[in-house]
Amino acid sequence: MHLLVVDDSSTMRRIIINTLKKLGHNEIIEASNGREAIDRLAKDRVDLVITDWNMPEMSGIEFVRSVRTSRSREQLPILMVTTNAAHDDIVAAVEAGVNNYVVKPFTPETMREKIQAVTAGVEGGA
Ligand SMILES: [Mg+2]
Repeated sequence: MHLLVVDDSSTMRRIIINTLKKLGHNEIIEASNGREAIDRLAKDRVDLVITDWNMPEMSGIEFVRSVRTSRSREQLPILMVTTNAAHDDIVAAVEAGVNNYVVKPFTPETMREKIQAVTAGVEGGA
């Protein structure tokens, strides 16, 4: 399974990627904002997106809305990583097309469960 990790914080990307590697994922690419992530999606195979919420250039929500405008990416699993677990924010994320969310700080086990929840049926899903 090919994963795209989107976060403006390089430290946070490191934490997420290290967690994913612990869970057995090795095909991981990264982007530092939504705009970069859209470029990566156009060029690279991606089976699952894990994206931050707050980012400069293009926020996680704007990025997700943009992804969902593409017919071929309507079903692409997207996990949102957020510190904003307030109800309204989650509703906005789901309305934008996020499949599930992970609240920071998270454990590897939580990440594993959320990935499993959104990739059930995805080819090569761990
Ligand atoms: Mg951020």
